[in-house]
Amino acid sequence: MSRITLHRARTVLPVASPPIADGAVAVQDGRIIAVGTHDAVSADLGDAVVERHEWDGTLAPGLVNAHTHLQYTDMAEVGRGSYPSFETWALAFEKGYRVEHDWAASAAEGVRQSIESGTTAVAEIVTDPEAGHAVHDAGLHGVVFWEVFGWKRSAWQQEGPQRVLAQLEALPSPPVTGLSPHAIYSLDTDVFRELQRLAEQHGLRLHIHAAESASEDEFARFGTGPLAERWRGLGHSDMQLLAGGGSGHGVVPYLDTVGVLTPHSHLAHGIYVDADDRALLRARGVSVALCPRSNEVIGLDAPPIAAYLRERNPIGVGTDSLSSSPSLRVLDDVAELHRLAIAQGYTDADLHARLLHAATAGGARALGLADGPTPTGALTIGSRADIAVFDTASVAPDDALAEVVESAPAALTTIVDGRALWTAPAVNGAAA
Ligand SMILES: [Zn+2]
Repeated sequence: MSRITLHRARTVLPVASPPIADGAVAVQDGRIIAVGTHDAVSADLGDAVVERHEWDGTLAPGLVNAHTHLQYTDMAEVGRGSYPSFETWALAFEKGYRVEHDWAASAAEGVRQSIESGTTAVAEIVTDPEAGHAVHDAGLHGVVFWEVFGWKRSAWQQEGPQRVLAQLEALPSPPVTGLSPHAIYSLDTDVFRELQRLAEQHGLRLHIHAAESASEDEFARFGTGPLAERWRGLGHSDMQLLAGGGSGHGVVPYLDTVGVLTPHSHLAHGIYVDADDRALLRARGVSVALCPRSNEVIGLDAPPIAAYLRERNPIGVGTDSLSSSPSLRVLDDVAELHRLAIAQGYTDADLHARLLHAATAGGARALGLADGPTPTGALTIGSRADIAVFDTASVAPDDALAEVVESAPAALTTIVDGRALWTAPAVNGAAA
């Protein structure tokens, strides 16, 4: 029989069940085999446990970063700015992007920062192939999405599918790979339809930026507005939405007409959505990765977190990249979502639990990793042993949950498939 490792912590937050004081999780062959109070788990397993770790903090599922571009980690200079609009940020981004970069090193640094803040899975968007190895090399879980950007119908028909599939093929797996049709304004309508067909044919997940800029709606509906003017200025007046005077639909219903709203896709941002949009997303089973700190840097409005929570949309939490965010720490965005939810009038007692759920099980669901034979995102028997321990001071379990959500505590260790990818220096977690 293979060895059993037991992790004991002052508080255990399984996410799938209530917080546990003096809890423990037992791991064997990379899977969780027991969760409960330390006394109960210990008594059940007895002498079978061969390795014990005692953590002075809160043990939770590893965080799932449901939207990021780790490739852009060395574009933090752009992210340190503040911008009056999406269009001005986009100009700064393009300027920063064109400078020479070592994308492989930049992505590897992003992976390091992610792991050291308790992240065990990522929705990583790759734009340049050199950045495509970092998640695989580190052994992180998640989905690596090849970004599909700037295709018009005529060019796509000539060589689009072959090129995109070849680029996808070149990404190492694991993890799972998918496609990221960038946004409604950077791809033709027919290209979106084709990408959905490819995704279905090849069993690929899709991840799309949507309702991030306020002017996307006008672009989709009428082919007008600041974003439309910018694309016309760049010589793209022949794009289908621009040439045809728009689709007559807002962003979310437009995406539905091209077929990409399915349980196999998830959106990033989802700021400029109304109740009908949110209802459509629920009906289609589409999760939204909320990235509030990135939205703030870019000068956008805050995502309607209170409405998403009240209406019970599936949500995850993303940091986006350092080109628009101060850090790759998912808990920093969780703390921001907490502040926003309160400011937007969400007063239910489940707020802490719902937000931790979004950053773990919700993210896993968004990425299609919450079900199947090897689920992640919650501490349940049979799940992957993807675990993070956070440096909390609270004694009562509910206080520890509040501390994790509101105060973004540092990680003490990050464990993937039962293996510690990282442990904070000077932490004595290897006791007994
Ligand atoms: Zn993004």
